[in-house]
Amino acid sequence: MHYYSTSNREVKIGLKEAVIKGLAPDRGLFMPSTIPVLTRKTLEGFRNMELPGIAVTLSQALFGEDIPESELKKITEEAINFDTPLVEVEEGLYALELFHGPTLAFKDVGARFLARLLGYFTKELDEDIHVLVATSGDTGSAVANGFLGVEGIRVHVLYPSGGVTPLQEKQFTTLGNNITALEVEGSFDDCQRLVKEAFMDEELTGHMTLTSANSINLARFLPQSFYYFRAWAQLEPGTKAFFSVPSGNYGNMTAGLVAREMGLPVHTFLSVNNLNDVVASYLLTGKYNPRPSTPTIANAMDVGDPSNFDRILDLFNQNYEWITQHLVGYSYTDNEIREVIGQVFKKTGYLCDPHGATGYRAAQSYRKEHPELTGIFLETAHPAKFRESVEEVIGEAVEVPERLAAFADKEKQVVRIQPDYKEFRQYLRTCH
Ligand SMILES: *Cc1c(COP(=O)(O)O)cnc(C)c1O
Repeated sequence: MHYYSTSNREVKIGLKEAVIKGLAPDRGLFMPSTIPVLTRKTLEGFRNMELPGIAVTLSQALFGEDIPESELKKITEEAINFDTPLVEVEEGLYALELFHGPTLAFKDVGARFLARLLGYFTKELDEDIHVLVATSGDTGSAVANGFLGVEGIRVHVLYPSGGVTPLQEKQFTTLGNNITALEVEGSFDDCQRLVKEAFMDEELTGHMTLTSANSINLARFLPQSFYYFRAWAQLEPGTKAFFSVPSGNYGNMTAGLVAREMGLPVHTFLSVNNLNDVVASYLLTGKYNPRPSTPTIANAMDVGDPSNFDRILDLFNQNYEWITQHLVGYSYTDNEIREVIGQVFKKTGYLCDPHGATGYRAAQSYRKEHPELTGIFLETAHPAKFRESVEEVIGEAVEVPERLAAFADKEKQVVRIQPDYKEFRQYLRTCH
């Protein structure tokens, strides 16, 4: 299988190079040249499987041409070692709980897979690989924990100072070992820009091997397609369903669209935003106007220029009409998000995190117009990761799972930098 760039479909690059490079040299994003289509029988076979088993079959379909079967099975089983259960919140409306991994957010799926795949591809190299990752919260913890202790790999996590919750911060600033956290005096978009600039810096990349663990890396977003199949497999046969996807950089949505091309039966995708509604506006008007992000209580969705948007355009051949047939846009203010967390909790006892809450609310609206459909919203993180805002709404304490609480007592260690590329470059040079 080869991979092309969204900026140039003539580019042909192998899996190893695409995963190590992260971003194509022309700034495009890598896409698989063919998307395998599953047989009806394979799909039906998923009905009795949990996520780990489904993942082994699907990783074989996506990456099997490039990695020996036993190696790929090992990588997949080590990475995807937890399930993603579907929980009925009210009649016809389900939460797909993606937070049962080690850092309690869906990003564990892609980050753990990428870490192991990269470890496999770089085994024979005699120099360290440097993973650069910009985070608005959950990516940093998933990537840092996914790569912790992987030999030959050093991870540099950039995050906006004050832009992540205290518990999120603890999850990637306390690890030490091969993980360094950089506290940037700026926004998430600044962090993302610094990372992109480093990749474009030929003088720097001539000296050190840099790679990305953001969802621009195909080995991160493609495995996220696995849990869409797991969701479908838990429904009654014949159910017509739509997915409601709380979105920021649109990696999760892109994975869902790839799953659809692989043969996943799905009616529609709801593209859900917070105040950072560039895609919702695009879906309404056909105009894409990126702009600086605004901080909200659903901070992992605070993205003003989603990096995977080009992949979505590419999947639909840049055809706006076609995109709007499959994607329906929604966006919510912080007050609406708070309101819905409180309402769902009161009505059903189910506690949403601020991101999942946007997904729930959009799913509920869409079901009002399409009562014959079943709604699945992606519950992208455990509510305890956002306990400050959640507790304020429901007026009671949120139970913090043990594996999250364990981070709280450790000491934060960071390198502070200004959102200035020269300073970031200086830091990187000292790591070499
Ligand atoms: C990253 C994240 C999102 C946004 O996902 P994208 O793939 O970037 O669109 C939503 N919710 C949570 C909790 C996240 O961590």
